[in-house]
Amino acid sequence: MLPAVIALGSNLGDREDNLRAAVRDIAALGGVTVTAVSGIVQSHAVKPTGTDAEAPDYLNAVMLVQSALHPEALLIELNRIEAEHGRVRVERWGDRTLDLDIISFAGLERHTDDLTLPHPRAWERAFVIVPWLQVDPDAELRGHGRIDALVVATSSEVWACDAPPLWSES
Ligand code: ADP
Ligand code: MG
Repeated sequence: MLPAVIALGSNLGDREDNLRAAVRDIAALGGVTVTAVSGIVQSHAVKPTGTDAEAPDYLNAVMLVQSALHPEALLIELNRIEAEHGRVRVERWGDRTLDLDIISFAGLERHTDDLTLPHPRAWERAFVIVPWLQVDPDAELRGHGRIDALVVATSSEVWACDAPPLWSES
């Protein structure tokens, strides 16, 4: 089993319910054990042209897992879970019911058509770094060092969401 960091996001439909369903589905994957799930944070949608105030805000969270699946197999499962929750890819960075990204996988590097590790934009995304820091204050992102240093530099705004925990051990 190797440690992986997964980021969850939703800005369409019942966003909180989409995140809950994703956590449940990931926890149910054979070969994947959930070790921690962050609280939910909120952020404005960002499009290639900048912040989109017209689009619904995102709810985001980060989960830590131990994975017996290799990274490509894990991504296939995450893409399947996205599809099952109605995600349709219309535009790059378009609004979506569910986005599941592998942020980091055992510190590995990958540069294939389907998978880049660590996730190339994670370091500048407060909606990834802030919840990740909640569940792993000592985390490091390969190529960028400790994430507690990144959280100061990430400019996009996130704020806490007053929702019950996405995960309980029992
Ligand atoms: P983003 O998550 O950057 O907003 P998308 O979710 O629309 O963009 O991009 C999905 C594509 O990104 C998938 O087809 C997937 O193969 C590719 N991809 C590359 N690296 C990763 C990664 N680390 N995690 C998730 N998807 C990735
Ligand atoms: Mg994605």
